[in-house]
Amino acid sequence: SWSAVARALVSSDFAGHPSVMSEAKIPLAGVIGAPIAHSKSPKLHQHWLRRYGIKGHYIPMHIASGDLEDAIATLPKLGFVGVNVTIPHKEHILSIADLVSDRAAVMGSANTLIFRADGKVHADNTDGYGFMQNLRQGAPDWDPKAGPAAVMGAGGAARAVISSLIDAGCSEIRLSNRTKSRAEGRRQELGTKGEVVDWVQAGNMLDGAITVVNASSLGMTGASEMRVPLDALHRSAVVTDLVYTPLETPLLAHAKSIGCQTVDGLGMLLHQAVPGFERWFGLRPDVDDDLREVVLR
Ligand code: NAP
Repeated sequence: SWSAVARALVSSDFAGHPSVMSEAKIPLAGVIGAPIAHSKSPKLHQHWLRRYGIKGHYIPMHIASGDLEDAIATLPKLGFVGVNVTIPHKEHILSIADLVSDRAAVMGSANTLIFRADGKVHADNTDGYGFMQNLRQGAPDWDPKAGPAAVMGAGGAARAVISSLIDAGCSEIRLSNRTKSRAEGRRQELGTKGEVVDWVQAGNMLDGAITVVNASSLGMTGASEMRVPLDALHRSAVVTDLVYTPLETPLLAHAKSIGCQTVDGLGMLLHQAVPGFERWFGLRPDVDDDLREVVLR
């Protein structure tokens, strides 16, 4: 069925550009999810397309779960070279894709699809890459191997953080989550390098940590505040928050006030988009202040 895709196209800002449909060579990409109106991905990809003068389009598409499989079968026929995948499809998409990258398999979810010329759908997860690139750009002297990392949260975002910290050679990861069983569920990914800490004792795991990550939704505008005590936090730690609304979360403000280097979460969103754009449009885009401003506007 082509109906889901057709509906999505008509409801997006793609409407009004019918000429694209007849110019098969113009590459199309986009983001699929439900809901999709809040996604910042169109802003950033459209900025890159304009900035590099690439003839291509990036379109937000509302695709309901029941239409996912049809949509994936149809999009390549319409000229799509790939799409980003967001909530609620990030896990389900793995069973639809023909090929799944190792990192997507480890994280149990994908955020980037490449529709290959041979007809195969390749699923990748670039969240961990985005997390790591953001830290490396925001704290150039940070060395993940230099000491323990403390991670708060055990959802999908935490999985990306854990696997990228392990890949980067981090020797010890302390993990704490409100629902302990969910953190326990990450034990296999943590391997011998990990330790699960009770939520009520999460403050203790900051002692001696050189990397501190909030991968929970605490601190987000409208959500509860982070109540983990920061007394044990040392000023040599680099502290990052995946939450980027507000840009400076209470955790980051507090960490900064005691002299820690802090890295906000917006950069992760920007960097995770780089590999997809490069694969679809053939050019590796820059993440810089211009892009941040465009996405924040
Ligand atoms: P998720 O799977 O829904 O997980 C939410 C996490 O927050 C869980 O660990 C949950 O703990 C915890 N949490 C929620 N409310 C809490 C509370 N009142 N007290 C303590 N813990 C609480 O979400 P996710 O996909 O992992 O995303 C987590 C956050 O990262 C979100 O804010 C998301 O926007 C952000 N994120 C940012 C980026 C980026 O590019 N910067 C990328 C991905 C995600 P329980 O298990 O106990 O419920």
